[in-house]
Amino acid sequence: MAKQNVPELFGSLVFDDRVMRARLSADVYESLRKTIDENAKLDEKVAEAVAAEMRDWAVEKGATHFTHWFQPLTGVTAEKHDSFITPSPDGGVIMEFSGKELIKGEPDASSFPSGGLRATFEARGYTAWDPTSYAFIKDHTLCIPTAFCSYSGEALDKKTPLLRSMQALDRQARRILKLFGKDVKYVRTSVGPEQEYFLIDKELFDQRPDLVYTGRTLFGAMPPKGQELDDHYFGVIKPRVIAFMEDLNEELWKLGILAKTEHNEVAPAQHELAPIFSTTNVATDNNQLTMEIMQKVARKHGLVCLLHEKPFAGVNGSGKHNNWSMATDTGMNLLSPGETPYENAQFLVFLTAVIKAVDDYQDLLRLSVATAGNDHRLGANEAPPAIISIFLGDELSAVLDAIKNDTPYVGKEREVMKLGVHTLPHFSKDTTDRNRTSPFAFTGNKFEFRSLGSSNSIACCNIMLNAAVAEVLKQFADKLEGAKDFEAEMHALIKETIAAHERILFNGNGYTDEWVKEATEVRGLSNLKTTADAMPHLLDAKNKDMLIAHQVFTESELNSRLEIMLENYCKTVNIEGHTMVDMVRKNYLPAIEGYLYNLAKTTSLMKSVSSNVKCNYEISTMERLSELTDQILERVQKLEEVLQTLKGYDTITRTSEAVRDDLIPAMEALRKAVDEAEMLSSEKCWPFPSYGKLLFSVY
Ligand code: ADP
Ligand code: MG
Repeated sequence: MAKQNVPELFGSLVFDDRVMRARLSADVYESLRKTIDENAKLDEKVAEAVAAEMRDWAVEKGATHFTHWFQPLTGVTAEKHDSFITPSPDGGVIMEFSGKELIKGEPDASSFPSGGLRATFEARGYTAWDPTSYAFIKDHTLCIPTAFCSYSGEALDKKTPLLRSMQALDRQARRILKLFGKDVKYVRTSVGPEQEYFLIDKELFDQRPDLVYTGRTLFGAMPPKGQELDDHYFGVIKPRVIAFMEDLNEELWKLGILAKTEHNEVAPAQHELAPIFSTTNVATDNNQLTMEIMQKVARKHGLVCLLHEKPFAGVNGSGKHNNWSMATDTGMNLLSPGETPYENAQFLVFLTAVIKAVDDYQDLLRLSVATAGNDHRLGANEAPPAIISIFLGDELSAVLDAIKNDTPYVGKEREVMKLGVHTLPHFSKDTTDRNRTSPFAFTGNKFEFRSLGSSNSIACCNIMLNAAVAEVLKQFADKLEGAKDFEAEMHALIKETIAAHERILFNGNGYTDEWVKEATEVRGLSNLKTTADAMPHLLDAKNKDMLIAHQVFTESELNSRLEIMLENYCKTVNIEGHTMVDMVRKNYLPAIEGYLYNLAKTTSLMKSVSSNVKCNYEISTMERLSELTDQILERVQKLEEVLQTLKGYDTITRTSEAVRDDLIPAMEALRKAVDEAEMLSSEKCWPFPSYGKLLFSVY
């Protein structure tokens, strides 16, 4: 394939700043820029002019349709295509697109989950243009990033609360910066999400109903080799995968997505893609697009991209690392330790604000990444644990200790750290990035939240993170704005905050049992293992009050979200349960029966030929397999029974508890018996491709 010139290719399908500046009149451009940068209200005339240029540009690029592209609470993106055509009097058509069509859309979106926010009889929500995220062309369609709301103004999507949380943080962070004499236009959070995924052969994928229906394997004995040799991590990338990655990069670059780093991950067939960071809102849109394009490009290569958090038992699952920071329009990273003492003090205010926010709102962060799929990672013995804690590294921890205790910081100067006077040592990334077991790690100039599941929208965790940090910054600003001696009071506040929240700081190994014991019993940190445990905390008074106070959610939006998230959890596991029943009854039991028939027939045939044969192998295998089929039958019946009972609970909370306590254990028991039978049966008679084939067949 002839490779294109990357700078030329990059963003070629995006109506970005370059295109706007080149194509819009100076007035229109200025006015739109003001809307993008400063949230200024958009003029109708400006919208009309932008729409006309967007249409011309899109049509030149071969687009025939436009769509308002949005992110309903299903967690995936949605689009409804309309063509540009309008009949002309001469019987032909012209291509039209109005300012109104750009700004507002009315999809008949009655089937999206709304958790009771919108009765079906008033089905229509509306979509509203988000000019802070550029429009782009995908499949000959001009896609306009939009927010999705009900007519009463309630958010029916993930983008609206995300934008609100960014505004909340912007408001409070600017108050703090003012205290340091900095009057900036805005503070925005930036995110670089590292995306993990599996690639498997499509032909094998198609043979497994569990992968087709649920995105993960529900059965499968471990192959002789898994990830124990660590030979896949950063290993040589196989040719088919390289071809996929090259194609993927091109597609992403065209869409203006800064795909930067790619490598093999720990598990066989597992890979990672990391973009360069951008504003949270754009990073969120781009990550949704990245996931979509990954799946499309994989298909072209005869592969399937699995984004599920745990496609295979026994090898690592997939997560997403949310690298997060706050920056001003002047390019100042607020989590970057500065050069001067004064900058260092400012850094410590923001740092301790994040520490306090993560401690005060551990439960919100935990529940923001809770899904049925991610429960297999968090709380299991891999990835970060379900307990939220912060890793700062030894150097920064020593600095905070010194401040807390008024003791000399054992650095170059060996002096008592005085904020506003002393500079901090440089934290090289090397000394801050060693702990891979921490869910929330400081990595030099940003925090890396590692608990996200690979298929999660990053909107959810960033909404909570932004809101929590906004709340603490507000508390800080309330205190410091009236300070008589700013420096002294700031020092006292930082000191106090460190002392009050040091329980959340942990530099050790987060995977050990000792940590779980210490975290929960000594430090009193929460350990919310499953979605059913975590999600109800959304409505805890402290969480609800904070989210409402910062106008991130309304009360009814919160109620509806809890409902939708729990419903999603129950439905997901329910589908898995039904898929297991289906596979066991239609495939596994008949397959084992077939093999038993072979064994029995062989035995009796052999015995009829010679009375000397013992048939030890045939008979012992037959006996164990027969025990197992009885066990499988018993367990599948139990599973069916549980699935039936689940229909009977009257609240979604009660149902979710039953999913956790009854359904998942019933599924696990059934799987165990089937996987044992797999190990005793001939591969030829086994109805589905094995783990070995799925994990090791892409070259
Ligand atoms: P790794 O975690 O694999 O060592 P890096 O730390 O280099 O990789 O980068 C991980 C991600 O963090 C990248 O997407 C990068 O763009 C992003 N990142 C770097 N600086 C920031 C920042 N200030 N805010 C948000 N994300 C950032
Ligand atoms: Mg990382």
